[in-house]
Amino acid sequence: MIIKPSVSVLSSDRIEQGVELDLKVKTLAGAAAFISLPAVYAYTPLINSHDHLIGNWVPRAGDKRPYPNSHIWVEDMKNSFAFLERNMFWVNDGSFELTDPSASLIAKLGAYKNLFSGCGIVQDHAPLQKAEYYQQFPIFVPSSFRQCHSITLKNWWGGASPEEEMKITKGKIPFIIHLGEGTDELTKGEFAALKKSSLLADNTMLIHGIALEEEDLIAIAQAKASVCWCPSSNVFLIGKTLKTDLALAHGVNVVLGTDSTMSGGINLIDEFLAAKKAFPTLETKSLYKMVTENATKALMLDPDYAFLNPENTKNLLLIDKIDPDPFENLLQIEAENINLLVLDGIPRFGDTQWLEHFDLDMDDYTEFRTGKREKFVLGDPQELNDQIDAKLGYHKDFPYLPF
Ligand SMILES: [Zn+2]
Repeated sequence: MIIKPSVSVLSSDRIEQGVELDLKVKTLAGAAAFISLPAVYAYTPLINSHDHLIGNWVPRAGDKRPYPNSHIWVEDMKNSFAFLERNMFWVNDGSFELTDPSASLIAKLGAYKNLFSGCGIVQDHAPLQKAEYYQQFPIFVPSSFRQCHSITLKNWWGGASPEEEMKITKGKIPFIIHLGEGTDELTKGEFAALKKSSLLADNTMLIHGIALEEEDLIAIAQAKASVCWCPSSNVFLIGKTLKTDLALAHGVNVVLGTDSTMSGGINLIDEFLAAKKAFPTLETKSLYKMVTENATKALMLDPDYAFLNPENTKNLLLIDKIDPDPFENLLQIEAENINLLVLDGIPRFGDTQWLEHFDLDMDDYTEFRTGKREKFVLGDPQELNDQIDAKLGYHKDFPYLPF
């Protein structure tokens, strides 16, 4: 099926009008061979490089902000309303066994948070789970990574020592670690400790980096490592964020992440807005690069995910044209104006009009209304919300769900 959006963002520095995209989705006999879409812009689906899918409960936790470092928050949030309410549905017994049905359900909701903001891929920072955990989601949650919680708290939540975890990567999959999430001496010392333990390499992705100084950012650029910026979470918890202007000036591969809604904003679009607020001169085009090209580099994913490919369009995000500038248009994304999201040739979410053309097993999908639009989605997020409501005994509203 050939589709022709008004404008196609092929990459962060290549925008073209009237490009015909060869959409690789299984279509019904009699489906239209050509569809013109004059009111939508095309992108490749976005990539959220940092989330804790299990942590997407609300409201945000943190009564003693700003914290000098996030390690204090990790303890403090255990007394928060959100944490205690989540305990009514699922109690973390310390094993971080997220294939537990209740834990899985919350993690799936977290994946929908990402899907409903235009993400096709999310990195779920948690101890590595069993293979089936990663296969249950409506979007792509990569399982090829190793991790450590942080230099200071080590792998308190599960996993081997950071050195052992890094060794297992053999440099071929990412090594992910929170670093410098604070303003005190403890968090300032984490980068030196990282280097001393030989954990700074081209497959290292450092989360946050608030405490990083200019010379540290230069060392990160030289090592070809990546830094994941989570502005909304940082400003909320710590009151400060990464020196992104310096990081970019020195050529650091900066990516963007939401963190969970226990500390971060509602979704990735909130993160775009927080990024612009922290650095008003930062171009939205740079943010798009962070959630596409830079993210595939940091997460060591197939580079196909970084660009929109007109000849073989297996990955596609169509958004209503609201702002004349296709990058600024991204700041307007809400579930309602996502026309279609396809990843790996599978339609994940979109307007129900597409169902006239796509050959889908509708047992795998559900439909709902948001605003004035009828939508289809892979899986059944409303049922997940219902299960939580049934256990809590009242309706729990998750602001990232569009129904
Ligand atoms: Zn985090």
